[in-house]
Amino acid sequence: LLSLQAATVRFGGRAVLDAVGLDVVEHEIVCVLGPSGSGKSTLLRAVAGLQPLDSGRVLLDGRDQTGVPAHKRELGLMFQDHQLFPQRDVGANVAFGLRMHRVSKERQAERVGELLELVGLPGAARRSVAALSGGEQQRVALARALAPRPRLLMLDEPLGQLDRSLRERLVVELRELFGRLGTTVLAVTHDQGEAFALADRVVVMRDGRIAQSGTPLEVWQRPADAFVARFLGFDN
Ligand code: ATP
Ligand code: MG
Repeated sequence: LLSLQAATVRFGGRAVLDAVGLDVVEHEIVCVLGPSGSGKSTLLRAVAGLQPLDSGRVLLDGRDQTGVPAHKRELGLMFQDHQLFPQRDVGANVAFGLRMHRVSKERQAERVGELLELVGLPGAARRSVAALSGGEQQRVALARALAPRPRLLMLDEPLGQLDRSLRERLVVELRELFGRLGTTVLAVTHDQGEAFALADRVVVMRDGRIAQSGTPLEVWQRPADAFVARFLGFDN
């Protein structure tokens, strides 16, 4: 579905993405894990078309996306700081993902209802976003990202601002939800517990490069190098 080939992004001479190669196949859940500043968000932005590459390519279904604008890439993107519209109600926020796709009013309302049910907020369409808890807002952001039925859903720290117990619960729910919908997911987190619980495959990044890619078990049992081992919390 997605293929990055030697994707490179430089800021002021420094390679923030350094010839990154990454493939994501249909229905796969891939979690990119890495310390702050390792290039995780830049990677997602590059796939989304929000960050031009200095060299390399992004392919979706084998087609080069160079020059294809963000809104034409059939992607769902949920940002690090979810970016809901606080002055609009829940339904309007979720419908935002649909409006651009020219869906009728009735169909919109129906679909918003379905999506809110899906993320565990049934009947919340008229509620004010500002009055929701952090976890509820994350769910609304997720519903919005899922609204256009993206081929690939990209999540940047989807549970970033939540407390540990809520994260642990939501991550299980998300995995179940994505499995049920067959959603292909590229998620970014700096929380290894989250990545290991959510992912079919974990990609560990360091300084703009991929230090290791493997199933959670592989990465856990056989860290590729001292950096990965240290990042996973092994003291050797
Ligand atoms: P975090 O876990 O803190 O979100 P990250 O892995 O998502 O980190 P990025 O946001 O991809 O990291 O940033 C990687 C590096 O690129 C950082 O050093 C950052 O300062 C730099 N960077 C990102 N965007 C820009 C920009 N627009 N201009 C200059 N430097 C940038
Ligand atoms: Mg980031």
